[in-house]
Amino acid sequence: MVGFNSGPRKTKSLLTKEEYLEFEKWERLLQKSLSLEAEKGFCNILGRKEFFNIFISRKLKDIPKGLDSSLIQKFHDYHLKFKIYNECDIKKRRRLVIDLRQLLRTSYLKYQLPSVLTPPKLNISNDVYTIDNKRDLTISLKSNVGEIPGVGDKINSILVSSNINIVEDLIYRFPKNYVDYSSLKRINELTPGETVTFVASIKRCSSFISPKNRNLAILNVLVVDITGEIKISKFYVGKRFSSRYFLKSQEKSLPVGSKVAVSGLVKENGFGLSIHDPIIEIICNSKSNLKSSKIGRLTPIYLNINGLNSDRYRSILKSVLPLSDKIVDPLPTEIIKRHDFPAKSKALRNIHFPGSKDELEKAKRRLIFDEFLLFQLNLLLKRNQYKNRSSPLFHISSEKNHLSQKFINLLPFPLTVAQKRVINEIKIDLKKTEPMSRLLQGDVGSGKTIVAIVSLLDAVSSGWQGAFMAPTEVLAEQHYRNLCQWLPSLHVTVELLTGSTPQSRRRNLLKDLSNGSIKILVGTHALIEDPVVFSRLGLVIVDEQHRFGVKQRNLLLDKGLQPHLLTMTATPIPRTLALSIHGDLDVSNLDELPPGRTPVDTKLFTYSKIFKVYDLVRERIIKGQQAYIVVPLVEESEKLDLNSAKCVYDDLSKNIFPNFKIGLLHGKMKSEEKNTVLKGFLSNEINILVSTTVIEVGVDVPNATIMVIEDASRFGLSQLHQLRGRVGRGSISSSCILIYDGKQNNSKNRLEILSKTTDGFEISELDLKLRGPGQFLGTKQSGLPDFALGSIINDSNILELARKESLSLINLDPELKNNHNLRSWIRTYGKNLNQNSQLN
Ligand code: ADP
Ligand code: MG
Repeated sequence: MVGFNSGPRKTKSLLTKEEYLEFEKWERLLQKSLSLEAEKGFCNILGRKEFFNIFISRKLKDIPKGLDSSLIQKFHDYHLKFKIYNECDIKKRRRLVIDLRQLLRTSYLKYQLPSVLTPPKLNISNDVYTIDNKRDLTISLKSNVGEIPGVGDKINSILVSSNINIVEDLIYRFPKNYVDYSSLKRINELTPGETVTFVASIKRCSSFISPKNRNLAILNVLVVDITGEIKISKFYVGKRFSSRYFLKSQEKSLPVGSKVAVSGLVKENGFGLSIHDPIIEIICNSKSNLKSSKIGRLTPIYLNINGLNSDRYRSILKSVLPLSDKIVDPLPTEIIKRHDFPAKSKALRNIHFPGSKDELEKAKRRLIFDEFLLFQLNLLLKRNQYKNRSSPLFHISSEKNHLSQKFINLLPFPLTVAQKRVINEIKIDLKKTEPMSRLLQGDVGSGKTIVAIVSLLDAVSSGWQGAFMAPTEVLAEQHYRNLCQWLPSLHVTVELLTGSTPQSRRRNLLKDLSNGSIKILVGTHALIEDPVVFSRLGLVIVDEQHRFGVKQRNLLLDKGLQPHLLTMTATPIPRTLALSIHGDLDVSNLDELPPGRTPVDTKLFTYSKIFKVYDLVRERIIKGQQAYIVVPLVEESEKLDLNSAKCVYDDLSKNIFPNFKIGLLHGKMKSEEKNTVLKGFLSNEINILVSTTVIEVGVDVPNATIMVIEDASRFGLSQLHQLRGRVGRGSISSSCILIYDGKQNNSKNRLEILSKTTDGFEISELDLKLRGPGQFLGTKQSGLPDFALGSIINDSNILELARKESLSLINLDPELKNNHNLRSWIRTYGKNLNQNSQLN
């Protein structure tokens, strides 16, 4: 079946079978009549019933169904023109006839095309793809690639420079993509820079030796399909190719008239489009016995192995692939059976040379599972090691006069159910002899700080010290002030250590810390960078942990024996990601906001409406409320953005709100300056705070009820959600206004997500999807290895499978003593993963 597709239309240019037949009949009839008119010298011949022009005009009104609207329009134009054909002179008539014939011809070609697109039947025998198993290979998986028969010095050095050193590396370098017949193109659709596959016929074939370089031979092939033609050039470098004999044999292998599949990169030069060194495969040619060995199924495409022709690369790979049988399958047979996985060796063969899409999918699934399993097992083994160390012992009584209970009693509000639950989960951990390693996830404003303080007090009452680490000075200072509100009355000493703590004070502080008279130390990463020594560090709390690198967290852990660790985040990580990167953490969720909060109303405005936005701000201030105006700050270009924050500050205080008090806050300010500003804002002396994202985390001023975020599209959704968490902290309903550049349409769509939901989990899920894990987490701190095949987003179901299997493996056999293959696999290949994934 050729010429149309029989089902419903798939693309705009395809017609159904019926439509195509009708169109074809119509086109023929018109062409016949037009050609007759041309033969008769454009005299408007009289047919049996009517004049030529009446006939044509009538037919052009009655256009067959299914054609593109642009064509319909064109035919309609001719319908009008032929109505008055009679009034035209010969020259004009001639033009009309020729033009219409042209239009009919091109539309015919357009709809006739599917015949070319239908996957051709291939003359391939099945065993072309079979890998030669019987070949006697004198090499092993660990042999250098240079030892592979047929790999000379040149190829060896190419491979080595592509980081392929031993045979095994070849096998584990998976294809980047596959070419297959479902994505065939027509020649007139080819665009430069694309890697394409198309089917065409050979029209001409010639070869010559370059007159400039006797070592270079060039084979030029002109191929055509119904839409056009394109030149293909193959280049042969080397003395042995520049013989007439060799070139003739190459020409012979591509006989004129045979149908070929061509795939390669489309290039453009002064002479038009061309393809250099593509894979050319003869698909059918009645006169020859040529077989297609490389195209016809899924042909693997490898990432640039620079300087090595992909055909050659494939044949080298094919020659060593039988060695994959020697790779010991690391998976226990039960797991293989349970998930219907192909054996490792089969998966490795099929990932390179799949016989079908189905085989390919199975191979991929298996290999992705292996990658994820390796990663998960690694985390779990590390976690076990960690859990085996002994931890500070806590004695936590549940009596009313217990320290942490006293604190809770001091609070002006009752704890939420979620807070109580999480506090309890932590208490249970703290009483164990193994160190706690827990992540507390809770949306902005869910009250994580209270949970942290309760846990710190539990440490103190058990005779230990606690450390509370925050990512910014602003936040550390706020925590410190917060603690100072309660702790003195509970007779617990607390101190603050940041980068701007004066030297003299720091000395005393460190002394008191090491002799144990300071019980709780709050600070920034200065806590880990300084020679800070605790006398009895029992609990470490890391606030907004996503802002820290994994390494930093581990450094802090090294300061104590093996303190308990609680990390907190308001950027909830989507479940799949949480599983994969925190495979070694227990997770608690604060999934409830304290009562009395009204959700922040989020609206989008373009810059052209900025004055309306200022009016909204003014209304709030007049009512005695306060406002944030956030200006983006990108870390790398701090200076640039500082200016813009300053500009906004100047503009607002001079021109827009001369009667209000405006404050400016940014990361480059001295700690004292920052404190003064924050205090002023907290006490409502400052009405409007112009700030960079330093207020992103933690800052807590309940009277601030409106936030304006300029250039909002420069932020990630999760970050915007964090930012707007600064408002809506009191009982007054608050609003957040996102200002964006009206010209960028897609940024509007993205930002609108925020006006629709206030669920941090949902937002982070979408953010992750939109930006990918690298940007979402910040590549440095993601702690994720680069998976060769797997994607934690697209393959989340396999990730979960691997997670489950790894848990049950480790539960049964904590050190994998009875899983020899698995253990040695992890020992050999887990190393590469470890570097990045040092999660605590
Ligand atoms: P986050 O989880 O974003 O760090 P905070 O710990 O800063 O949130 O708490 C936000 C605000 O909610 C603070 O002002 C805090 O005092 C208040 N808060 C915390 N717990 C409760 C509660 N159970 N009831 C009412 N307000 C609470
Ligand atoms: Mg907080």
